[in-house]
Amino acid sequence: DVSHGAILYLEDVTVSFDGFKALNNLSLSIDEGELRCVIGPNGAGKTTMMDVITGKTRPDAGKVFLGQTIDLARLDEPSIARIGVGRKFQKPTVFTSHPVWENLELAMKADKGWWASLRARLDREAQRKVEEVLALLHLEPEAYRLAGDLSHGQKQRLEIGMLLMQQPQLLLLDEPVAGMTDQETMELAELLNRLRGTCSMMVVEHDMEFVAALAGDAGRVTVMAEGRVLADGTLAAVRSDEAVIESYLGR
Ligand code: ADP
Repeated sequence: DVSHGAILYLEDVTVSFDGFKALNNLSLSIDEGELRCVIGPNGAGKTTMMDVITGKTRPDAGKVFLGQTIDLARLDEPSIARIGVGRKFQKPTVFTSHPVWENLELAMKADKGWWASLRARLDREAQRKVEEVLALLHLEPEAYRLAGDLSHGQKQRLEIGMLLMQQPQLLLLDEPVAGMTDQETMELAELLNRLRGTCSMMVVEHDMEFVAALAGDAGRVTVMAEGRVLADGTLAAVRSDEAVIESYLGR
């Protein structure tokens, strides 16, 4: 079975918009604990793929599974979020008028309603989790600052921390380093490398230095084009792949 050991398994997924196939028999799987980078030109279908995984868009055909048994194509967006698929969009969305630590606490209790969580007292376990994630994010010195006063890079890290508070099985990151300085980019790469093994991750990104920092020499990189997988392998292998060179440079 090809899906054995996979946290995410897509088989022959097709999504059409007015007859145009944004995804065209897309098949791909990610191993439990893996950090997979996905690259590809604009219009390749990367965002549509994330939309299908998170239940924002329903596939016209194909299989979308989390683990061996959870059929994501049958679930709605809130259910998919609840079972542990976290998605980070390009722009950071933090609670700017709340302190950093409170953003983490609110994220943990998101499923109980924001108002209830605002009034809730931190129990000891929640406190420990907030401290653990603050340390992981390297944001301990900023714990009592308002999230709105953080730098762009710090906000992006905080938002990833907010997703971590919900202990996701799979984290989807859409161009997380867009708009970041080189230093912020490398700090984020370090963070994601530290998270390796904690949860499985899929990172869609254009920044090749960032991809190189995540994939290293042996990590797998997936190249998408025209709604499907064009190539898959180490960064060095896909970079020298004829079809990849052609699709990036045009004919
Ligand atoms: P990427 O994220 O790789 O740039 P997208 O998934 O955003 O690619 O888009 C893939 C293709 O599908 C593009 O040609 C885009 O114009 C088209 N597309 C995406 N969403 C819609 C939509 N809601 N309606 C019509 N076309 C769409």
